[in-house]
This record gives sequence, C-alpha cells and structure tokens, in this order.
Amino acid sequence: MRTLYQFNGGIHPPENKEQSTQRGITRAPLSSRLIIPFRQHAGEAAKPVVQAGDHVLKGQLIGMPCGLVSSAVHASTSGTITAIDMQPVAHPSGMPDLCATLIPDGKEEWLPHEAVDYRSSDSAELRQHLRMCGVVGLGGAVFPSDLKLRPLRGHPNKDIGTLILNGAECEPYITCDDMLMRERAAEIVQGAEMLRFMLDAGEVLIGIEDNKPQAITAMRQAVADSGLPFEVVVVPTIYPGGSAKQLIRMLTGLEVPSGKLPTEIGVQCFNVATVYSAYRALAHGEPLLSRIVTITGNVRLPQNLKVLLGTPVQDLVALGEALPDTNHYIMGGPMMGMELASTAVPLVKAGNCIIAASDKLFPPAPPALPCIRCSRCAQACPADLQPMDMFWFSQSREFDKAQQFSLFDCIECGACSYVCPSHIPLVQYFQFAKSEIRAREQDKQAADHARERHEFREYRIEREKQEKAGKLAAREQSIRQSQAAANSGIGPAIQPEIQAAIERARAQAASAEPRNTDNLTPQQRAEIAGVEARRERVRELAKSAVEHTNDHDKN
Ligand code: SF4
Ligand code: SF4
Repeated sequence: MRTLYQFNGGIHPPENKEQSTQRGITRAPLSSRLIIPFRQHAGEAAKPVVQAGDHVLKGQLIGMPCGLVSSAVHASTSGTITAIDMQPVAHPSGMPDLCATLIPDGKEEWLPHEAVDYRSSDSAELRQHLRMCGVVGLGGAVFPSDLKLRPLRGHPNKDIGTLILNGAECEPYITCDDMLMRERAAEIVQGAEMLRFMLDAGEVLIGIEDNKPQAITAMRQAVADSGLPFEVVVVPTIYPGGSAKQLIRMLTGLEVPSGKLPTEIGVQCFNVATVYSAYRALAHGEPLLSRIVTITGNVRLPQNLKVLLGTPVQDLVALGEALPDTNHYIMGGPMMGMELASTAVPLVKAGNCIIAASDKLFPPAPPALPCIRCSRCAQACPADLQPMDMFWFSQSREFDKAQQFSLFDCIECGACSYVCPSHIPLVQYFQFAKSEIRAREQDKQAADHARERHEFREYRIEREKQEKAGKLAAREQSIRQSQAAANSGIGPAIQPEIQAAIERARAQAASAEPRNTDNLTPQQRAEIAGVEARRERVRELAKSAVEHTNDHDKN
C-alpha cells in the first residue's frame, strides 16, 4: 500500500457531484452555428488559415499555432466558414476575441486522418503531432501538452521518475473526469502509456479521490487488462487536492518549490481528459474537437455531455433545462470558475462545467467586514501562504509587499475566501494584485524597450555623423594633393622619386673627381681625342645650322 502524504490546509465544501452522475455521457446534438475562438489555450492565439466562404471538413486545421506557447485550432465539424471576426467569449475580462463562425452542413464529413505509430516515431515528431492536433490541458489550465513533454530547458537530461494522471477532480459539482474514467478507462490507460513512452517516465500513478468509487474500479480494471504496471492510488477527498502541486505532494511526498515546475523535481502531471485526447490524437489521428462537459446546478437534467468545441453555451443549458429562477451561469466550478457575461459565448477547451446558478443555490455574499486576524484563511491555505497579509497589501496597493508574501504562489483556489468569517473576497484581491503587477511589468518592459530603441537611434546617428566627417576629411586631403600635383605639372605619386633622383645626382656631382689622363695608354688617349674631335665637329655643324635658320627667317 502506497504511503500518502498530506498537504496543509484544504476544505470540505459540499460536493454536489451525485446530481450529474446519474446518467451516462450523451452526445450533444449538432448546433446550427459554431463559434470557434482562435485562442482556446494558454499562450498565443492560433493564426487563422481559412477565410469566410471556405468549406471545411471535420478536423480541418483552421488556426495555425503561432509561437512556442500555442496550439492548433480545428473545424469541429464539416460546413462553411461564414465569418472570421471578434465575438464574445468566456473570459474574465469580458473582452471579445477572434473567432471563426462555422455553419455545419450536417454531414460530419471528416478530413482523412490516421494513427501514429508512436513507438517508432521520433519524440519531437510526436510532440509536433500533438501540437497540430490542438492537445492542451483539459483540467482548466489549457497549457499546450506538447510543451509538457519537451526535455526541460536547462535540465535536458532530467529524468521524469513519476508520471501522474490527475483524476482527483476535487472541485464541487464537476463530474466530467469522473464520467470519462468510468466510460473510457481503457483509452485513458493506453494514452498514459503513450505519454509515459514519450517522457521515458519510470512509474505511472493515477490519483483519484475516494468519492469516485466507480471511476476507481473502472481504472483499476483497465490497468489490470492492459498488463501495464500502473498504480491507481485513491486519495482522500479534500479541496483543492486536485491541484497539481497538492496531488504531487499527496502521491510522492515531494514539494514543487516556489516558482519551479514539477519536471524540475522529476514529476510530470496530466489531467485524465488530456491523456484521453492525447490518446485520440495518437491512436486515431484525431484533433481535439470536443470535450466532456458537466451541465449542472439549477437545471432539471444535470448530466455530462460530449460537446463539439464552439457550441454556444445557451444550447447546452437548454439541454440541461435550466430552471426559471436561474439568474446567471458559471463556467467551471463554484470555487474557481467564472461567471459568464452571456450564454452566447461558445464552449472552449477549458470549459469542463456549466453551472446554472440561482440565489437559492448560491446566495449572494454578505457585505465584507473588516479582517479580524483570525487566521482561518492561513489554516485553510494549501499553499502555506498568509492570505490576510497578502490581502492587506493588495488592498492598500502595496504590491511589492504582497509579492514578498509569495502572492504568485497563490493558486487562486478560493479556500481562504470560503472560510473567511468576514466574507472578504480574498481571491478577487489576489487576482487584482497579480493583474496589476503583470500590467506594471508589461509597462516596464515596454518602457525599457522604448528606451533601448531611443539609445540605439542616438548611437546610430552619432556613428553616421562620424563616418560622414571621416569621408569629408579624406576627400579634402585628396583634393589638396591633386592641386599640388597640378601646380608642379607632375603627378603627385612620382614627385618623391624625382626628388630622390635629384638628390642622388647632386651627391654624385659633388663627389666626382677631375679625370686623370696621366696613366692612360697612348691608344686610349688617341680614342679620347677622337671622341672630343667628333663632339667638336658636331657642335660646329649645329652652330652653322642655327645660323642658317636665322638667316632664312630674316629673308
Ligand atoms: S479569515 Fe478573513 S478575517 Fe480571518 S484573518 Fe483571514 S482575512 Fe482576516
Ligand atoms: S486562494 Fe491562494 S491564498 Fe487563498 S487559500 Fe488558495 S492558495 Fe491560499
């Protein structure tokens, strides 16, 4: 029996899971219009590769991953793209985002696709395949799965000793992973083996909370049938035991240090629904086009549906038959989910649950009272933080101090808000502080970037000035030399040689001695006399020629 390790804190809110697990997963009917956002994952939005008027097949790529942290987006069914424009989406900011509107043709005509032989494929190819199949974390973070399978930067040889499948699903109301494990256990186990192979991981642990006995049985049976040495580990039901760091702690006793990734301590963790979608991508070549969604809360028919991505939430709540006193909808769970501004928004990869909410189900929080320093929030915090101090500094906008209290280690689980007797919406303060700090960092980066650009421009202008001055000086020097050469009538290049020759001649003349003829032979003397006589004769002839010319000119 495996030893389990407890993490500090945690709470036990009402589970409210049984309502939506009374029936099996059913397939949601095809909607008349799908709105498919190009940003359904952490990181950069995918870049549209289709345009209005295009006919697309089911599984056809419509958004190309853009940048390292990104993932592909596909047509969830066959039909016609009628628009690429900004549409309301499920986002805390309430801002619209770029979406493709797809009008289904009802044929569900697939783009041809095929399985990948993962055992004979290169690991990088497999990661690229998952990226192009749009496989991202379906537990809520929607981080591209291919990146979690890469060798860790700076630790390329770090071994993954343990691969954890997260089937804890600790948040109240949500049951999509529970139902998936009950009904698709064999595929999840095969997917786990594929990811284990890619990571070359040692052991595989499948963590499931003890409030899911049917899922535990199904997964244990699937493991036994597969013959793989995986272990299904039952963990106590406690919120937020399904958070990655807390589950890693419970199963291995290892702490993921602040600001570090699980891979840095040799552990990797995937949600069971992510593992299932990786299996579909590798074993069938299918991109991620749908997901299981829990429709629950103030509805007549709580259930889990298999829903095509892009399906409007209003179509889903209609299937659940929301009761008349429903006054808002939550995407996700009551602890970490977000209130939807409109049910016209589409279902996206992160959308694991839609809760119809009423005042009866979720009474409005009473007005917040001052903090009484009771420290209940600190006792409930699974990350060992001091929420009351973080609250104090967030409220007073002393964000540096809030950061000193490890604000960014807060996983926004809401356990502190849940137990606070003063009803202080602590998580909202932490979210606000984080967004302010991020905004300031972005502003600082933008200012640094602008300053660097300015400094480089100044440097470039100065350098160009110096280059121009150098060129001008060289030209003036050249002109001066040309003028000097023109004045002397001789090219400047040979003047130094001429000067040197003149100097040599002068030196020779100065050193020349008068010719001594005393020691010449009679024959040599006769020859010299002959030469002198010939020279004299030439001089006389030249003189008479000049006189003759002058006489002729006069006549
Ligand atoms: S639980 Fe609420 S009142 Fe108590 S210390 Fe924390 S913030 Fe203050
Ligand atoms: S929301 Fe943050 S501070 Fe509050 S309990 Fe969870 S981790 Fe701790």
